[in-house]
Amino acid sequence: AKSAGGNRYEVADAEADARAITRHGLTTALPAALDRGEFFIEYQPLVHLGDGTVHGAEALVRWLHPQHGVLGPDRFIPLAERTGLIVPLGRWVLEQSVRQACAWQERNGGTAVKPLRVNVNLSPCQLTHPGLVQDTVDILERAGLEPEALCLEVTESALIGADDSLLKPLRRLAEMGVDIALDDFGTGYSNLANLRRLPVSVLKLDRSFTQSMQRFPADPVDLKIVDGIVSLAHSLNLTVTVEGVETGAQAEQLRILGCDTAQGWYYARPGPPDRLHELALVDATG
Ligand code: C2E
Ligand code: CA
Ligand code: CA
Ligand code: CA
Repeated sequence: AKSAGGNRYEVADAEADARAITRHGLTTALPAALDRGEFFIEYQPLVHLGDGTVHGAEALVRWLHPQHGVLGPDRFIPLAERTGLIVPLGRWVLEQSVRQACAWQERNGGTAVKPLRVNVNLSPCQLTHPGLVQDTVDILERAGLEPEALCLEVTESALIGADDSLLKPLRRLAEMGVDIALDDFGTGYSNLANLRRLPVSVLKLDRSFTQSMQRFPADPVDLKIVDGIVSLAHSLNLTVTVEGVETGAQAEQLRILGCDTAQGWYYARPGPPDRLHELALVDATG
């Protein structure tokens, strides 16, 4: 048993080494990847739970690595955060997404549907970067997108214990009309009363809540928790979005609980920007 254990550790060590080597390789390749245009964005629709119409989409970045193929954000965002590349990369994602939202709106111009909106993730490093507000203003103006069509998603953990210097840029963006969403809500330890202090207008319930709605009827305690969060959010004038909706039963429970918008594989996986336009057009005509 001892020698088997030893082998297991050797294998584990080798895997850890391989991961470290890949991590190192990816980290050094990151800056050039941005210059070479190896990043691309997929968009995942956000849907109104009430009537199923498309509300907008969340921008999710990917890296088409010349050797490793398509890498998800979990593979490289932490590295980009550690090296500071997240600032130019995040700015690139924001600019692309804002331009894309304009393109959707232009193509939808003649129809009665509400303008499509776009959600963009902000890393904590971007929050502390002094250029955030001005960059966002410039990007919106250059593209000609109204600030109301942009939602910036910030994780709950990034804002826990945030002091005023962190909240100030978010407050300025919110005053301009940009929506701020509290992402992955329920995974951190933030005090619900703390919500009042934050310049957020959207609460994005983490996928773990959606998962607990898998059985129908769901666990009564889970139902009460979500019900309580939704009531509190609405009483504070916040919109509630749920992520990770994979089944119709989940969608139905969350709709009954009063959640406003939803996102997940049940509606669509993240995909190319044109697919969102097709979904929205189906709304407009059907
Ligand atoms: P997130 O903001 O929580 O994004 C939602 C993640 O859930 C996405 O993973 C999405 O593909 C996945 N997802 C959506 N619907 C479902 C579903 O029904 N079931 C399941 N199991 N998963 C679903 P993805 O694309 O791998 O992104 C992972 C994380 O990377 C994101 O989590 C976000 O925190 C981060 N990220 C993505 N793009 C950016 C970016 O441009 N900037 C920054 N700073 N972070 C980003
Ligand atoms: Ca997000
Ligand atoms: Ca999330
Ligand atoms: Ca999440």
